[in-house]
Amino acid sequence: MRSTTPDMPADILIVEDEKSIRDMLRMALEKQGHTVHDAETVADARTLMAATQMHLCLVDWMLPGGSGLEFVRSLRKDSLYRNLPVIMVTARTEEHDITAGLDAGADDYITKPFSPRELQSRIKALLRRSADFQTDSNITLGPLELDAAAHRLTANGADVSMGHTEFKLISFLMNNPNRVFSRSQLLDHVWGTGTFIEERTVDVHILRLRKSLKPYSADAMLDTVRGAGYRLVPATAS
Ligand code: CA
Repeated sequence: MRSTTPDMPADILIVEDEKSIRDMLRMALEKQGHTVHDAETVADARTLMAATQMHLCLVDWMLPGGSGLEFVRSLRKDSLYRNLPVIMVTARTEEHDITAGLDAGADDYITKPFSPRELQSRIKALLRRSADFQTDSNITLGPLELDAAAHRLTANGADVSMGHTEFKLISFLMNNPNRVFSRSQLLDHVWGTGTFIEERTVDVHILRLRKSLKPYSADAMLDTVRGAGYRLVPATAS
């Protein structure tokens, strides 16, 4: 993926079947200097993505001929698009729907109706975060080795499989070992500021991450600090 610095113009793909929303998004993004590509369907999106390397993708939840959710899921399975920043655009406000979007691999979501300003700040934050992730080199901590560019975590040389969110979580913690982060700090750093996800969502993903690390006896590296939050430690006292 091409990297981009925080305030640099980006190629942004909009996948949205409603023309009024597409036009509104285009206007807001072009005002910020971004190049906008828009698609009405997943198939159109695929064609555009084959022609241009996108920096960020805005995906509507409900699309004709395949849900936005399925599209995001398929991107995450594709080594070319695994790290492509994705924001889900959704009219659904229920928490379980939002969680489903994030589970599918979206980095953030925005609920209709939204203000162009809110959208702009979300995009800015996400591009900045993705640039941060891309500059990370390999990090080793205890038995764990993180290869951010390849989107890969190994434990004693073996691939550790995990979800997109868990990967972002472990990447962040490996970049900041031994430091205790509260749930709300983790939400800000990993999910992004301005997300309205409940703090217990963090616990769910910590639990999943521990499960992924357990076969390598690395789960205890993820330390719960009572009343404070979580931290990643290189080794655990046994
Ligand atoms: Ca739609």
